[in-house]
Amino acid sequence: MQAPFQDRLARAAASAAGAGIDALLITPGADLRYLVGYQALPLERLTCLAIPATGEPFLVVPALERAAAEASGATDHVSLATHGETEDAFQLVARRLADALGGSPRSIGVSDRMWAQQVVRFTDTIGGATLSLAGDVLRPLRLRKLPDEVDALRVAAAAIDRVHSRMGEWLRPGRTEAAVARDIGEAILVEGHTSVNFVIVGSGPNGASPHHHVSDRVIEPGDPVVIDIGGTMADGYCSDCTRTYVAGEQPPSDFADYYEVLLAAQRASCAHVRPGVTAHSVDAAARQVIADAGYGELFIHRTGHGIGLEEHEEPWIVEGSQVVLEPGMCFSIEPGVYLPGRHGARIEDIVVVTDDGVERLDTIERELVVLGA
Ligand code: ZN
Ligand code: ZN
Ligand code: ZN
Repeated sequence: MQAPFQDRLARAAASAAGAGIDALLITPGADLRYLVGYQALPLERLTCLAIPATGEPFLVVPALERAAAEASGATDHVSLATHGETEDAFQLVARRLADALGGSPRSIGVSDRMWAQQVVRFTDTIGGATLSLAGDVLRPLRLRKLPDEVDALRVAAAAIDRVHSRMGEWLRPGRTEAAVARDIGEAILVEGHTSVNFVIVGSGPNGASPHHHVSDRVIEPGDPVVIDIGGTMADGYCSDCTRTYVAGEQPPSDFADYYEVLLAAQRASCAHVRPGVTAHSVDAAARQVIADAGYGELFIHRTGHGIGLEEHEEPWIVEGSQVVLEPGMCFSIEPGVYLPGRHGARIEDIVVVTDDGVERLDTIERELVVLGA
């Protein structure tokens, strides 16, 4: 299925115009992929999509990237200009923009993650233009996923769920975190992703560090093990799902106690999601349950993050956020409890705000599972 790139380009131009920005300059990254479907390499040679507030958008690429740009389908939606090794690509963009706008732009919005080298070159080349972040106008577009994007995230979630449902093949006492992670990484690809974004296997005390990666620690009987995994699908959409398992035999009783609390918190937070509530209140729904049970100090991060063409994007589901949820917003609900030096637990699902509530895109079991007994 072809994403509605024409529509996205038109909405981006209109948003720019509405914000008083004469042109958006988009270098490789999620914004470029969102707007024209081109997963360009971030190189020292300039690749840049220019979207004038009025007039036609165009893509400038190094001559040697022409074939790749055409193969991406981007050129079905925007015209292409190439630059040779000795040409000034920044001048080329400036000249074509001046043509489209009937004069040099007075204000430009640059990609949030454009390299500083390029920002400086554009500033020098387009003299006197005010600079702002393109994200300010693109964020409202990317924040609300249309049904085609929600479908893509649902497919990605199903793929990572299949990996979790196979965890019993790999996770058992006596194996190292690294060995388990290698198997999981392979399965992430086998189950349909084109790349592995991260594999966290946090056994025993390592589970108390939310962003622990993997180590050579050997998993012991009764260890709680936090498994947080995600990848990117061919269409660019990401998965991200965490389950906490127990290896081999029943876990320590202090773990079992807070796992039940965490599960209740995650369920409460998911159930709270609907249009019209704030991101803050979704965070609070989880935090309250954990605090009421006396574990508040051990929940040391926000409840969730948006997801789409990036693993972490807006909205942030965090204390104090007054972002009001709208249908189409997609984000994680991932409260955790971390007992330093002992163990930890996190449960994470991706959810989408529907017209009247919420849909969990990850649908696998959240009850504690003992594996490799
Ligand atoms: Zn994270
Ligand atoms: Zn995660
Ligand atoms: Zn996450």
